[in-house]
Amino acid sequence: MRLTVIGCAGSFPGPDSPASCYLVEAEGFRLLLDLGNGALGALQRHAGLFEIDAICLSHLHGDHCLDMASYWVARTYSPDGPKPRIPVYGPAGTADRLAGAQGSSLAREMPPAFSFETLTPGTRRIGPFEITADHVNHPVETFAFRLEHGGRALAYSADTGESAALVRLARGADLLLCEASFVEAAGPGAGRAQPNPPDLHLTGRQAGQHAARAEVGELVLTHLVAWNDQAGVLAEAAGTFSGRLSLAASGRIFNLGGPGEDIQPTR
Ligand SMILES: [Zn+2]
Repeated sequence: MRLTVIGCAGSFPGPDSPASCYLVEAEGFRLLLDLGNGALGALQRHAGLFEIDAICLSHLHGDHCLDMASYWVARTYSPDGPKPRIPVYGPAGTADRLAGAQGSSLAREMPPAFSFETLTPGTRRIGPFEITADHVNHPVETFAFRLEHGGRALAYSADTGESAALVRLARGADLLLCEASFVEAAGPGAGRAQPNPPDLHLTGRQAGQHAARAEVGELVLTHLVAWNDQAGVLAEAAGTFSGRLSLAASGRIFNLGGPGEDIQPTR
C-alpha cells in the first residue's frame, strides 16, 4: 500500500500545497481520499488523469471535494469520449452538492461520470482495500477512514474535533494521517483573538494525543493551515506523541510495505 500526499493544506489551498487529497495505491488500484480545491492539478504529477479507480469523500466542505466538479468536466469531455463511470463514496447528498458546485443543470448529468454510493459507518471492500468508515466530530456529516491491505493499516482523520471514534479507527495503525488545523490557545497575550471552537478541528497537541491513545506506528500531521506556524504545530504534537512524527507535504510518498518493513517517506 502506497500513500502519496497530493494536497495537505487545511481549509484553503496554501502556497505550497492544494487542499486535501491523498492517493492510495495497491495492486495497481488507485483510490483518492478527498479531492479538495487545487488537487486535480497536482494529482496529475502522480497519476494519469483517468487512472483513478475510486474516490472516497470524507465530507462536503469545499476544501475536501470541490475539484470533483472539475474532474467531472475532465471525465465527461475528454477528447476521445466520456470515460467509464467510477464509484464515488461520500456522505448523503454528495451528488447534489457536486452538481451545485459545477452548475445546477448538471444534477442529472453527473451520474454518467460517477456512480455515487452513500457512506455509512462500517467496513466495505473497495478494490483491494478493506475500508472502515466512521463518523467523526465536525459540523457537517464527516467520515474518517481506516484502510487495510497486505497486513498494513492506514488511518485518515478527515476533519474532526476530539473524537473517540478516530482513536478506535486508528488503533494500532502503521500510519495515522491526522489533521492539525489549530494551534493551542495559550491564554492572554498568546496572540489569538478567540479560543479554538470545540468540535471542529484538532490542535497539534490533540493530534498527538489521539495518535498516542491509538498506539499508531507513525503520525503524519496534515490539513495544515497556511496562517499557522507549522513548526509550532509539530512541536505541540511532539509533546504528546513520542513515536515517529512529521508534517505532511504535497508530493511526500509513504510505502507501507509487507510485514517487517518500515514505512519509508521517499521524498
Ligand atoms: Zn471540514
